[in-house]
Parts: sequence; C-alpha cells; structure tokens
Amino acid sequence: MIKLENVTMQYKASSRPALKDLSFEVDKGEFAFLIGPSGSGKSTFFRLLLKEDRPTSGDVYLGEFHVNKLRARDVPKLRQSIGCVFQDFRLLQKKTVAENVAFALEVIGRPRSTVQRVVPEVLEYVGLEGKHDRMPNELSGGEMQRVAIARAIVNRPLVLLADEPTGNLDPETSEEIVDVLDRVNRRGTTVVMATHDRHIVDAMRRRVLEFDNGQLVRNDPQGVYGIG
Ligand code: ADP
Ligand code: ADP
Repeated sequence: MIKLENVTMQYKASSRPALKDLSFEVDKGEFAFLIGPSGSGKSTFFRLLLKEDRPTSGDVYLGEFHVNKLRARDVPKLRQSIGCVFQDFRLLQKKTVAENVAFALEVIGRPRSTVQRVVPEVLEYVGLEGKHDRMPNELSGGEMQRVAIARAIVNRPLVLLADEPTGNLDPETSEEIVDVLDRVNRRGTTVVMATHDRHIVDAMRRRVLEFDNGQLVRNDPQGVYGIG
C-alpha cells in the first residue's frame, strides 16, 4: 500500500538529508507505528506521501499512485485517498462536531443526502452519538480527537496517517483513541501512526518502523518500543 524505494530527501543542498536512501513497505491493511526521536524524519515521510514535498531522489508509491511522478492535476485524488489526524486535532472552531465532519464530504462535492446519511453513522462509529451539535471548545481532548478521526475516515481513505494523535491526551484517553484507530484498521484501512508512546506500541505489537537520523534502523512486524 505504501512503498519507498531509495528515498532521499534533502531540504537544502547544504544541510544533512532528512531521509537517507530509505526503502520499506507497509502492506494493505497493516497498522504500523513510526517511532524515533524528534528530527528523525517522521513528518518528512508523511509530507512525501501527501506530495507536500518532493523527494530529492527515489520513488514513493501509495496504492495506485506513483507519488513523486504524479501530475499536479492528480494530487487532489491522492490526498482524498489519505486521511490525516494530528496531535493538535485541527478542528474548525466555528463549526459544530457534525459540521466539521460534513465539511470533509462537502468539499469533495458529495450530495446533501449523502452527507445527512453518512455523518451520523461515522459519529456513532467513533463514539460521539449525542454530541453532534457541540462546538469543539465544549469537548474533551479525547472527544476532539474522535471528531478528527471521524473527519479523516468519512471518505473511506486507503490510508490513515496519524501524527502523534495521543500526544496531548492522558494515558487512559490515549488508549481509547488507539482503540478507535484499531477498529478503523480492522475495517480495512491501512494505518500509520507516529508516536512516542511506548505503552501503546508495546500493547499493540504491530509493525514498528524506527527512524533515526533519516534512516530506518528497525523494521519489526510485531515490534515493541524498545530502548528508544
Ligand atoms: P520528525 O518528524 O521525526 O521530528 P522531521 O521530518 O520534522 O522529523 O525532520 C527531519 C529533519 O529535516 C530535521 O533535521 C529537520 O530539521 C529537517 N526539516 C524538516 N522540515 C524542514 C524544512 N521544511 N526545511 C528544512 N529542513 C527541514
Ligand atoms: P457498516 O458496516 O454498515 O458500514 P459500521 O457500523 O461498521 O456500519 O460503520 C458505520 C459507519 O462508520 C460507516 O458507514 C462509515 O461511515 C464509518 N466507518 C467505519 N469504519 C470506517 C473505516 N474504516 N473507514 C471509513 N469509514 C468508516
């Protein structure tokens, strides 16, 4: 589902590369953790998948997309195939819970009847029944992240990228959020989650991709967090 071949990313000719000759794959349906210290290249990897940046050399594939060769007019299709969740939730503060999710459908031109049917389904799926009309500032952190996940999956993306989704949450809420991501994964969506949370990684025993200094130093199909 995701494949990197000899990917090097150097932001400036003078600086050390953010990713160095990186090659690995994540299969369809996998749940993979991306671990490694700050500055090791995790966000750069996400940006290459989204074609927000172009690798200096090498090839990036996501599903049917040869990302680094993709024409500009096909980039929206790529991005529609990828759901994103962030540490800081990034909700639209002036929209309700339901409106935040509906907006993801409206911007790609889904008819109103679809929006009205799908939004309640996905909110129930992430455990937000009864909260449709709340504003983001009336929610707990865990609830905000549930909204963000609902918004990210409502278009049924091939891949869900989660960049430290539990970074602002207490341990108990973090577990609940990972549980939602696990359910999304078990429904067939490939999930890649960057995290510093050793308890989550050790509890899940899924693929661990460990980055250090722009290189892959560990690729373990049922890994633990390790000495990290
Ligand atoms: P992580 O997400 O693991 O913290 P990043 O991918 O953000 O790591 O960073 C990897 C390296 O690339 C770091 O040395 C960082 O300073 C550098 N870097 C990231 N983004 C940029 C940018 N836009 N311009 C220049 N250097 C960058
Ligand atoms: P169904 O099997 O009828 O789709 P579910 O209760 O399993 O019902 O899911 C309810 C809704 O949650 C789905 O219709 C969909 O909107 C959303 N949903 C659940 N899992 C995913 C997923 N992995 N990707 C995208 N949407 C999902």
